[in-house]
This record gives sequence, structure tokens and C-alpha cells, in this order.
Amino acid sequence: MKSVKDYIISIPDFPSKGIIFRDVTSVLESPEGYALAIDELNKLLDGVDYDLIAGTESRGFIFGAPLAYMNKKGFIPVRKKGKLPRETVEMSYDLEYGSATIEIHKDAIKPGDKVVLVDDLIATGGTIQAAAKLVEELGGEVVKMIFLIELTDLGGRKLLEGYDVASVVQYE
Ligand code: AMP
Repeated sequence: MKSVKDYIISIPDFPSKGIIFRDVTSVLESPEGYALAIDELNKLLDGVDYDLIAGTESRGFIFGAPLAYMNKKGFIPVRKKGKLPRETVEMSYDLEYGSATIEIHKDAIKPGDKVVLVDDLIATGGTIQAAAKLVEELGGEVVKMIFLIELTDLGGRKLLEGYDVASVVQYE
């Protein structure tokens, strides 16, 4: 039987020299690969008590939305700046390559809401840390962070100390 890793294609030097891009489009293109990825991510939520799933643009949407649907939870898109129509809170952060600003709707999270954060991949952890700060700024509690892929050598877990972090596949 194939594992999730068998569906991931690694592209050296994309988008810049020295980066090995872990491509999940090859997972999504396969009905078996996509289903396996969602099922494995869903297992990471076993026993977790939560109200909402928030996914980061854009691959966090692809993995977070099916999980929200399966588990009958609401889905919150964490978007790049300038895309959300209502009042937002925003946070800037550094990426493995470049920098970015993300936002969520101010009324998407109520104080006390328990939120699971989802992304396709954790590298430095900067993206998900910024998303967690947004959730917390609105009074929400981040109860779990889940990723399909974890790049273990980039120190994401250290940055996210204190959070419950889990991933399906790991690369050094
Ligand atoms: P970070 O904030 O450093 O944890 O970066 C995570 C975000 O950048 C994720 O949304 C990934 O989609 C993307 N990303 C960073 N590094 C890679 C990589 N080597 N391969 C694929 N995606 C990456």
C-alpha cells in the first residue's frame, strides 16, 4: 500500500536556489493520494476538542476545508492581506523565502473558541505562528496545529513551543 510520502514530488531549487520544494499538487491529483492525506490528517484530530478549523492560504484551504466538512466544523480562511471583505486583524511575518502579511475576519472567532490550525507544510513555523497570534488576538485558543508535511531541520517546532504540533510526514 502506498503512503502519503509516495505521492509527494520534491523539486530542487524551487522557487529559489537551495530550497527543496515539497509539491503536494501530485498528492491532490490522485484520488487515492488526496483521500489518504485527508484521512491521515484527520487521525491527528482524534480526541481533540475543538470548535473551528482555520487554514492558511492557499494550500491550507485544500486540506483544512475537507476536514471541517467531515467533522461538521466551521472553516476559517486565513488569507493574504487585501482579500477579505469585512473588518480584519492582520499580522506580518518572515517566510523561508520572503515575507508576508495575513489576515482573518475579526468576527470569525469568538472569545473562548477552540481552533485547530491546518497547513500543507511547516517549514520555519512563521506562517502558522502568525495565524495563531491572530486567533489569540481575537480571544480564541489554538488547541492543535496539523500539517501534512514537516521540514524538521527548519526549527518550526522550536518556534511553536507550547503548542500541540503534529504532522503526517517528515523530511529533514
Ligand atoms: P513557514 O512559515 O516557514 O513554516 O512556511 C510554511 C509555508 O510556506 C507553507 O504554507 C508552505 O506551503 C510554504 N513552504 C515553505 N517551504 C516550503 C517547501 N520547502 N516546499 C513547499 N512549500 C513550502
